[in-house]
Amino acid sequence: MNTTLIAMSIAAIAAIGLVVTLGIVSLLSGSFHFLAIKPKLEILKSEFGDHGFAFSLSWNSSMEPVKFDKVKVRLFNPFGTPTMVEVSKAFDGANSDFARDVYMGNGMKRLLEAQNLERATIEVEVSSSKDSLTQSFQYKGAKFMRLLGETRETVKTFTKAMPAPAGKPLYQSVQRTFIAETLPESMKTIKLATNPEFAGEFAGAGGGSTEAQVNFDITKVWIEPGCIVCNACEAIYPEVFEVTEDSCLIRPEAPLNDGLKIQEAAEACPVEVIKFTQAG
Ligand code: SF4
Repeated sequence: MNTTLIAMSIAAIAAIGLVVTLGIVSLLSGSFHFLAIKPKLEILKSEFGDHGFAFSLSWNSSMEPVKFDKVKVRLFNPFGTPTMVEVSKAFDGANSDFARDVYMGNGMKRLLEAQNLERATIEVEVSSSKDSLTQSFQYKGAKFMRLLGETRETVKTFTKAMPAPAGKPLYQSVQRTFIAETLPESMKTIKLATNPEFAGEFAGAGGGSTEAQVNFDITKVWIEPGCIVCNACEAIYPEVFEVTEDSCLIRPEAPLNDGLKIQEAAEACPVEVIKFTQAG
């Protein structure tokens, strides 16, 4: 009996211990997670001297996707004059770790020359106008001035040392111009045997009749996959073919009574994706 009680007590203590351990691990992992994503601002040396503010910002952009595009430097100086200065400027936005050297104007010079600056508080805010998100960093005036005085890094040297962002997959899209530039405005200058306009010339060369080909109706015309958007078909028969950004469409009200012209477009298509069926 006693042995059973002892075993149950040990099991209960072990279970409580397990629960407490899990709680502590969970809390600690939460803290580490918080630390991992905590944004970091580094003060750099501005090439604009007292009129500029150079800095870098790093944060976990995959967990917090945001495009920062504005910086504000604010002085709270209750023991000196001026008692408050605020300067802010927009810059070209960035959506992952970045460094910028921003021209802040005379306001920044006033801020840096304030009396009793070392006892003041300086707040730097980096914000996103689009995502309504702001990161704030507070410094004692003395520390801010020490960091400004100590830094030797400019945005250029800092950016050089930054790890290159992970490359994004590159997708190549069809460039319409590689062939469109060489195409004439109208395909009428291309002498195709199916074009009644040039039928005589081809008939002579082939030794056949000098009569133009008889036109015909079609029942259906369509585009198979593989169009390279070269515009040739639309140049020949714009009432039937409409070339878009990435393909070619048949217009809903396309006339189907000029089979020769559709055949001409099909023969002019460099990748032979225009298909049609002849009526009768
Ligand atoms: S269907 Fe043929 S001719 Fe028309 S745009 Fe596409 S590739 Fe060029």
